[in-house]
Amino acid sequence: MATEHVGELLSGYLDGELTQQQRQRVTLHCSGCEQCRDDLAELRALRERISGAPLSELGEDQWRENMNDTTVQLSRGIGWLLFIAGLLVAGFYALYHLMIDSSMSFIEKFIIFGVYGGLAVLLFSVLRQRLIERKTDKYKDVEI
Ligand SMILES: [Zn+2]
Repeated sequence: MATEHVGELLSGYLDGELTQQQRQRVTLHCSGCEQCRDDLAELRALRERISGAPLSELGEDQWRENMNDTTVQLSRGIGWLLFIAGLLVAGFYALYHLMIDSSMSFIEKFIIFGVYGGLAVLLFSVLRQRLIERKTDKYKDVEI
């Protein structure tokens, strides 16, 4: 295991894009491999120069914890709810005006209704999928 270098994972490691398993592999490997440790330090220094902000492992972990914080999850949930509610209201408003519009034929209304209905169903299935994913999020390290 120690012979397999982790160079291709280092960038993702610094960006916090790896799975928990990959992160552990990098940490473990770097503890025994000077070359990859140097590469990581070099890459980190490069990132710091580019971003102008210090980027430490502690900072990454704190960022990670904050992202997993329930407050963030809650506010994100509210954001989603507002977004969906707004879309629904706008959709229903548009549909209402469509339905009372006497200048359009039934077929035209039916087609537009079908398009928006289809969109609503798609939106609902995406939302449902997200809710299911959120439930399973608690039990594994899911990347955001
Ligand atoms: Zn190595």
